[in-house]
Amino acid sequence: MKMIPVIMLAALLCASCNKDSGGSSSESSPATEAPAVSGDETPPVVVTTPVEEPPTPVIPEPDDSLPPEAYAFDTNITLVNLTEAQTTKMKKAMEIIKLVVATDEFRGKILNHLYGGKKTFVDNKGLTNAQIYQKILDGAESLQPTKDSEMDCEVEMYTASTNVVGYTYSTSKRIWVNTKYFNQYTSAGVAHNLFHEWMHKLGFTHSSSWNAARDFSVPYAIGSLVGQLGKDFL
Ligand SMILES: [Zn+2]
Repeated sequence: MKMIPVIMLAALLCASCNKDSGGSSSESSPATEAPAVSGDETPPVVVTTPVEEPPTPVIPEPDDSLPPEAYAFDTNITLVNLTEAQTTKMKKAMEIIKLVVATDEFRGKILNHLYGGKKTFVDNKGLTNAQIYQKILDGAESLQPTKDSEMDCEVEMYTASTNVVGYTYSTSKRIWVNTKYFNQYTSAGVAHNLFHEWMHKLGFTHSSSWNAARDFSVPYAIGSLVGQLGKDFL
């Protein structure tokens, strides 16, 4: 019983709107003219649609507190001598790295990394954990020192029956990856190795022979971290 007068009132209001804007078209702005175009059809719509009007609230990202570079971080890698299947796996690994860097876990594990009971890394170039994290986000390689938040490097495949997964030289932008391991690794395993080698591009080193401390070096510890967190994105 109460609906009818409401609809009628809405119709009257809208109709008068329509007339007003039509009567003074020279002074009306486009914004006020637009709603009046379909004056005959709008009243029922005005009455029935409010239920759908409130926009669904945007659920905030859980990692909103990360620095913007963590989300912007990207890979810029030239691939050399890869088959189609290897290219697919490598690109998946590159995507995994992007996703891992944009996690709160990645930041937290680096900031809280312990060696000898202290928050530090082995072979840290005198940097704090926070500075190492920032250095990663900066993406400023020793040979390409622009802070562009990108992994800039080249990756070339080679095949050898050695136990070397990959290697690089401080004088080269290139990382060499052994297909013997690459072909049997998951994309997360490839991401692990790629990030380890890229830590060398940022200037971090480690002992050439194994010792208990080496696993706590920047390349080993953070490469391993990327491999672990990367499993969530396979
Ligand atoms: Zn290494």
